[in-house]
Amino acid sequence: MIDLNPRPHCMVGESTRPMHPTVSGLLRLAPAMSRLAACEEAHETFLADAALIALPVLDEEEMPCAIIDRYPFLEFFGRSYRQELFGKRSLGYFLDEHPDIYPARMPLMVDADATLDDAALILMAAHPQHMTSALIVTREQRYLGITSSHELFNEITRRKQEELYFLAHYDALTHIPNRMLFTDRLGQACREALRSDREVALLFVDVDRFKQVNDSMGHAFGDELLCAIARRMQACARESDTVARLGGDEFAIVMDGVRGREDPERLALRLVESMREPIRILDREARVSLSIGIALYPSDDRDAETLLSKADAAMYEVKTNGRNGYRHYEAGLTAFSSERSSLEAELKQALANAEFILHYQPQIDIASGAVVGAEALIRWNHPRRGLLSPGSFIEIAEESGLIVPIGDWVLAEAYRQHREWMCQGLPSLRLGINISALQFQQPEFVKRVKRLLSEHGVDPAFLEFELTESMVMHKASAVLDRLHELKATGVRLALDDFGTGYSSLGYLSRFPIDRLKIDQSFVRGVDQLPVNASILRAITALARSLSLHVIAEGVETEAELAVIRECGCDESQGYLHSRPMPAERFTAWLQDGDAQSASAPG
Ligand code: C2E
Ligand code: MG
Ligand code: MG
Repeated sequence: MIDLNPRPHCMVGESTRPMHPTVSGLLRLAPAMSRLAACEEAHETFLADAALIALPVLDEEEMPCAIIDRYPFLEFFGRSYRQELFGKRSLGYFLDEHPDIYPARMPLMVDADATLDDAALILMAAHPQHMTSALIVTREQRYLGITSSHELFNEITRRKQEELYFLAHYDALTHIPNRMLFTDRLGQACREALRSDREVALLFVDVDRFKQVNDSMGHAFGDELLCAIARRMQACARESDTVARLGGDEFAIVMDGVRGREDPERLALRLVESMREPIRILDREARVSLSIGIALYPSDDRDAETLLSKADAAMYEVKTNGRNGYRHYEAGLTAFSSERSSLEAELKQALANAEFILHYQPQIDIASGAVVGAEALIRWNHPRRGLLSPGSFIEIAEESGLIVPIGDWVLAEAYRQHREWMCQGLPSLRLGINISALQFQQPEFVKRVKRLLSEHGVDPAFLEFELTESMVMHKASAVLDRLHELKATGVRLALDDFGTGYSSLGYLSRFPIDRLKIDQSFVRGVDQLPVNASILRAITALARSLSLHVIAEGVETEAELAVIRECGCDESQGYLHSRPMPAERFTAWLQDGDAQSASAPG
């Protein structure tokens, strides 16, 4: 950073600029002076003699070190001369005294607090004629000193180079190392590991459902969120670890000097736990979780590139198994990263090949223990990989826009199934259907919903569309009309993953919603976590005041059920009652009376 403030100094040397025609005769040579006294004495002489236009100043070796010239004034400083030239005199006063001598020509002035960039801008705007120009630095309109613009340009060049280095090696958004620096550090760490008999751990970190948050809360929010996540990750890592952003919502960490699996596991656990606290951005909050895959050099692979794809494969396993966790690479895990683009192509085919199916998870009325509804959850019956849960493909479907036709298929299939159950004489259950942000934003969405309803002859009162909280709360006013339109078709509306987004109470009361689905993160271990129980109680109280129903998701144990009952939730959904199952199993489950035993109130 250029020093615009402290020690004033001027540039001294030859001027390339021709002298003002009247100057030459009046130019007077000052005697050789000591460095310290030189400028000041010359300046005094200069001030006292108004007829004097230019005054060369020599140092003790009789070398010219400055020319004080009233007309161009600033353009005569060359070689750096780091003594005080004008004391603390006000230059403004000095100039005002002699308006006739310097017609309409003002020196370039910058405030002492001006940044380098301000100075550069001022300088550019002034179109300096010579590179030897200097800037007068002032504070509260008092002269402070002179800084050479030569140095300024040097500084700009140096900064440009630094900036280029930064751009090449650091991520512009989060300011942490980018893929290039990461690859470099990984390579270094691996070479070092071979010498030191230690290992390098590579952690591949992906933010769960980032795409959803980004789409629903807005991209500016998404950017801030990534920065906040990067900061938390850095806070978890050691100084010597490299936390890098590989792109999008993918991060990676290089940990060197590792002995065994425990070190990276401890870090992974810290990372997962660091996301428990919601992230506050401005006055909004987001909850995110991380899926982390770990691979070790050299035990998992001796090639840095393949090591990365192995850590990625391990991360992908975590995603497929419910996200929010970590695991080590194991032989046999498919390195998905190279196949992910093919996954998109396969996803396109999947619709045509009828590879999707819906599973249904029961929803239980807590007071009576009766099954009152089911949530339709999509699965992909992949020809080679077997049954895939949405965690492994919904993001790709959303990113590629394929979620729109897939979502249409879900609607049609859910309607068809519902109708079939009615025809079989099964008790009329409410059917929950997940709607993705992109699907909801389609201008034709409501029209399509209506068309399908009439095509399948389904009573909309039995359908409940699940929209995520973040999806409706972002741009809430714009969403309001669409929600009303949707509601007017007769379907019910539920806010899914409630508690993980940011809800405006004002909007909550104006939205035509029927139910809040409390996110599993509040339900998990609620019997051990009084804080979560308080949150549940607060949500149910809020819901009651707005006449909304409340269902808790992810209920796995009797102990959790007991607490959610006590907190005032109306309904419960989770593995405790049943995992999601294919339609035929669901029908059998209902008929066999498994439903009664599974859901009996404890
Ligand atoms: P969601 O709507 O919040 O669905 C609940 C998820 O929690 C389901 O995961 C369900 O299997 C899981 N779950 C239910 N009970 C328990 C439990 O006791 N413990 C645990 N650990 N998990 C439980 P699934 O089926 O993997 O779906 C994940 C997400 O994918 C859904 O979250 C939803 O956001 C999305 N999704 C599922 N089907 C569709 C769909 O047809 N369209 C769209 N757009 N999204 C879908
Ligand atoms: Mg749902
Ligand atoms: Mg949910």
